[in-house]
Amino acid sequence: MREIGHFVGGKEVKGASGRTGDVFNPNTGEVQASVALAAKAEMEQAITNAEAAQPAWAATNPQRRARVMFKFLELIQKDVDNLAKLLSSEHGKTFSDSKGDIQRGVEVVEFACGIPHLMKGEYTEGAGPGIDLYSMRQPLGVVAGITPFNFPAMIPMWKFAPALACGNAFILKPSERDPSVPMRLAELLVEAGLPAGVLNVVNGDKEAVDTLLTDPRVKAIGFVGSSSIAEYIFATGSAHGKRVQCFGGAKNHMIVMPDADMDQAVDALIGAGYGSAGERCMAVSVAVPVGKKTADTLIEKLIPRVESLKIGPSTDTAADYGPMVTRAHLDKVKNYVDLGIKEGAMLRVDGRNFRLQGYENGFFMGGCLFDDVTPDMRIYKEEIFGPVLSVVRAKDYEEAVRLPSEHDYGNGVAIFTRDGDAARDFTSRVNVGMVGVNFAIPVPLAYYTFGGWKRSGFGDLNQHGPDSIRFYTKTKTVTARWPSGTKGGAEFVIPTMK
Ligand code: NAD
Repeated sequence: MREIGHFVGGKEVKGASGRTGDVFNPNTGEVQASVALAAKAEMEQAITNAEAAQPAWAATNPQRRARVMFKFLELIQKDVDNLAKLLSSEHGKTFSDSKGDIQRGVEVVEFACGIPHLMKGEYTEGAGPGIDLYSMRQPLGVVAGITPFNFPAMIPMWKFAPALACGNAFILKPSERDPSVPMRLAELLVEAGLPAGVLNVVNGDKEAVDTLLTDPRVKAIGFVGSSSIAEYIFATGSAHGKRVQCFGGAKNHMIVMPDADMDQAVDALIGAGYGSAGERCMAVSVAVPVGKKTADTLIEKLIPRVESLKIGPSTDTAADYGPMVTRAHLDKVKNYVDLGIKEGAMLRVDGRNFRLQGYENGFFMGGCLFDDVTPDMRIYKEEIFGPVLSVVRAKDYEEAVRLPSEHDYGNGVAIFTRDGDAARDFTSRVNVGMVGVNFAIPVPLAYYTFGGWKRSGFGDLNQHGPDSIRFYTKTKTVTARWPSGTKGGAEFVIPTMK
């Protein structure tokens, strides 16, 4: 059985805790590897390594740090097929979707290549007589990222690329369900010239995470995962004096206005609702048709499309989506479908009993479609994170704006319409962090920032884009007087520029 250790001090090391977790092949249901789960002492050793390596890395000029990132991009491109295969084999998403996962991470590495510009400070000459005022951005020291299973390439890169470019050392605690791609990315970074110890990947569970949250040498934590864990990380990390940003779960609505191009809306719902088996934080899980006629047409068009979804192993290039990540997650999603029926929602397509010939033990599930879902139901309030789309019928536009605005989660939302007034009004008023207009998965590009509101995001700054540079640096502001000599004795009044 393949054993996955940790990546510390520039190389893979074996786990020493005696505790391991299973890494499944979701296509077959078999355990394909065991991953080490770090003990407190192992995490502390990684932090010690990172702390020792950080000052020299911070003192490396930003152009040189950028060159490491450029080289890293080149190595990823060379290795992309292997990375995508590895990713699919542990996560279960299709090969082309895995390539997309890698690509969206690569784009943040590309952004981080601009670090010489991004880290520039400000300067005011002559703020007073002989006085210049300037600010500079400095790295924080050792920072950490804790990431989820569903984007094992993209989200680690969203975290470590800007942090490293800013001159920090980084500890990554990836998901224990698909740890191989983060380990491989660390190897590639060292090959690209990153000094040993600057990036460490420590696999583990709560014990590893709690060490990061409480160790005073860790200055900042970036987390992505479910909202209950996000709240815990935010509260505990903040209580220990760290800078913390946490991105949580989601329930993304897509509003379909009566004037929308219905075929385009259905295509969008199928891709955004069922792609990656619904295991995306920006998946659309709620469709909100406005008015009875729109709802009836939408349901009529959706049913045959959901029934004909092509589900296959992650190696099948013709599959729309692959298996779920683990049996436990598959069971959880099926339980939600059972619950929806009990709550009185109308299950129009039932994918619970889907079996794939030759892959009977794989974690597969067919697409499910609920109609007549209402806001008081748990299947509406809670994140399901599977191939299950709920249709909530809104009687008018006002109700359609209210639904996502009043929902506990506020990650993404979309409106499909041909009416510019409605789209403009919606984007302005809706109480959600990322909005799409005739665009179902509005994940901003790397040079903008990504972040949800309400229970989808905890902390002040978003991920990637300019906010990532702000998050991973602190600002120092200098007031300097040249010539240095002052005349006239001590000043007891607060200095002002007269
Ligand atoms: P998860 O919360 O189970 O795990 C996330 C990370 O936290 C993992 O590294 C895990 O090891 C760690 N963890 C789990 N339990 C812990 C505990 N009790 N104490 C300390 N650490 C713990 O999430 P997941 O199932 O891996 O990922 C899916 C979730 O992530 C979904 O809710 C999805 O919406 C969310 N997500 C959000 C975004 C976003 O940007 N908002 C992006 C991707 C995924």
